[in-house]
Amino acid sequence: MLRVGEHFERTDTGRQRRVNEDAFHARAPLFAVADGMGGAQAGEVASGTAVETIAAGIPADGRTVEARLAVAVREANGRIHDLSVSDDERAGMGTTLTAAWVGEKEVTLVHVGDSRCYRWREGRLERLTDDHSLVEEMVRQGRLTPEEAAIHPQRSIITRALGPEADVEPDTLTVPARGDDLFLLCSDGLTSMIGEDEIAEVLASTGSLEVAGRALVDRANEAGGRDNITVVLFRLEGVGTTAEEEVELTRLNMEAVAVPAAAAPAAAAVERRAPRAPREPEKRRGWRPGIGTLLIVVLVFVVASAGFLASQAVYFVGSDSEGFVTVYQGVPYELPAGIALYREDYASGLNISQLPPAQRQTVGEHQMRSLADANDLVRQLETGRVGVP
Ligand code: MG
Repeated sequence: MLRVGEHFERTDTGRQRRVNEDAFHARAPLFAVADGMGGAQAGEVASGTAVETIAAGIPADGRTVEARLAVAVREANGRIHDLSVSDDERAGMGTTLTAAWVGEKEVTLVHVGDSRCYRWREGRLERLTDDHSLVEEMVRQGRLTPEEAAIHPQRSIITRALGPEADVEPDTLTVPARGDDLFLLCSDGLTSMIGEDEIAEVLASTGSLEVAGRALVDRANEAGGRDNITVVLFRLEGVGTTAEEEVELTRLNMEAVAVPAAAAPAAAAVERRAPRAPREPEKRRGWRPGIGTLLIVVLVFVVASAGFLASQAVYFVGSDSEGFVTVYQGVPYELPAGIALYREDYASGLNISQLPPAQRQTVGEHQMRSLADANDLVRQLETGRVGVP
């Protein structure tokens, strides 16, 4: 099973535009980039509406993820089109939209326009989307070479967008994915300024998504920054297979043994209590309380270590302070000193307010689970929202 291990996103106005008409969404399992166009603030309205519509929900019915993403894109198109015909200032506005949905074993893309999705795997950059642009169509017809297209003065003219027409035909595509795959969604403010060789060079130079994301934006600006630049990066990780869980548990147990920090607060608590507890004759003060304290400390250390080891092997599903459904490692309790016996393992993009009451209750129960079970539950809740068959 796949999940999003980390992500980084950045949008920049660039060096020549006054406003940023790009928009993005980055919350697992859905990532999207939209590049709006149109006078006044229409471009921002178009790209914002596209991203908000697809982020707000994808119909949960019996169809495939591709079909449902296409329905959401058509709905976004309809909203933008309605806004554009009802207001002269917004006439003709439009936006690109490239979105990626992370499934259990695959990533599904929906795409209109010339924003792009790339997959970076084992040092190789692969473009997954075809630009709906004049120059790319000319390349497909053999009238331009890719090199000529890259510097063509009309390279920013797109042939398909959300908004200009009452209906739109989005491309959809499902690609098999695996742990360590890195996906890049970007607006043409990146790809019209730097080549794919340079994108690959940046991705190869660092394992940090943040360093890579900032470097991509910086390089597009250094090359002129003629357009708004948006990059959304997310890296997948594989979870839930038996072998992987065993490796993970072994690693956690080794960490727990190697780091005595978990026992330290308990030991300190005993030492703070010790002066009050023994009411014994003065002459014994020199050694008996010392041994007693030592024994208690050792006992507490053993119990705390065992408890810590046990707590690290279990997980539960709950919601974080903002209401997002989260997988926690440990047990759902806090010690009186405010020491939490759990830590966040994975925060989903799903808010409990989006769930029906029965599912909300399941999240609130904080039932103890294996990592695989916890991830399964979150995946079910996520896919329940989007409706994976
Ligand atoms: Mg652009």
